[in-house]
Amino acid sequence: METPVFWKGSLDDIENTVRNIKKGKVKLLCKSAGGRNIYMIEYGERNYLHHEANYSSATGAGNPKHYADKTQADYIPTVLLVGATHGGEFEGTVAILNLINLIETGVDFFGRENDEILSAMENINLLLIPCLNADGRARVPFDAFLGKDYKTFRYYSQGTWKDGGLCEYPNCKAKHPIKGHVDFLGSYFNDDGVNLMHDNFFFPMAEETKALLLLCDERVPDVTILLHGGGNTTPCFIQTKYVPTYLNHEIYNLALQVKNATEAKGYKDMFRVCEKEPSMDKYPPPSFNLASACSHINGEMCIVFESNQGLAIKNQHTPEQIYEMHLILFTETFKFAKELKLRRKQNVIN
Ligand SMILES: [Zn+2]
Repeated sequence: METPVFWKGSLDDIENTVRNIKKGKVKLLCKSAGGRNIYMIEYGERNYLHHEANYSSATGAGNPKHYADKTQADYIPTVLLVGATHGGEFEGTVAILNLINLIETGVDFFGRENDEILSAMENINLLLIPCLNADGRARVPFDAFLGKDYKTFRYYSQGTWKDGGLCEYPNCKAKHPIKGHVDFLGSYFNDDGVNLMHDNFFFPMAEETKALLLLCDERVPDVTILLHGGGNTTPCFIQTKYVPTYLNHEIYNLALQVKNATEAKGYKDMFRVCEKEPSMDKYPPPSFNLASACSHINGEMCIVFESNQGLAIKNQHTPEQIYEMHLILFTETFKFAKELKLRRKQNVIN
């Protein structure tokens, strides 16, 4: 399958996009382990939240508002979208760069207008990280797994052990950092062999992890979405583990909203709704991962979204479907963040 013209998601595409930004603000979030630029692009007015206590202490005092009071009338709902925490999961990067081009020029790389998404993002403070793991991205010599076979996908995603065998999923997580154990370092990892999803969150190893956690702490996004690719999965959220149950319910509510929006557009099996609460009662326990950590630092929703990656195996979505799915996800997330503000005002949630 040929990579379509709108499919822009390389590190060069990010640099070119960043260079031409006029309406947004560009910030160098950090340098990767390999010295590459990790950018954040911001649109809309930002909040200056006054933290009287960190989140742990505020909840200890019985009121998260000591950490971040979002009940002010002028509070601006904030959404953070993070592409390519795993470097070979290009789909989120492509969608974010298209969104930036749409905001900057009025059309995406398709040349299409999209009033629906632009009006949904009005009055939103939007934070975009096109590619959190630039080191991993740099290790993949192409821009998509569209039409690629399973072996190629596994080789470039998780890499190979010293004996040449594929690291595979989830066994690639059995060594961490994985550097020193591999022949080919897959795009999952930064140049130090750290899988950012499974850093040591109390003592982060990677600057990329630290920078994301700092951002989540400073800005307290109402919704953070880590945009992943999950082979040819039916797109879905992965319920976040070890967070308060009401956050799981909010994630479920957003999932229902996204599902309804896909069906309203005529896509029947484009998105799968996650469970209402994760199962937490069995051994071995699920991992406390980057989504859990972001959520614990600020008490807000952080969700892993798994996209279809268009491999030449069963359940292959087209590049247009993959992109469209992200547009629906973004649109509904912006609407949801604004609804959260209204519900906070009505004291339906805190
Ligand atoms: Zn991933």
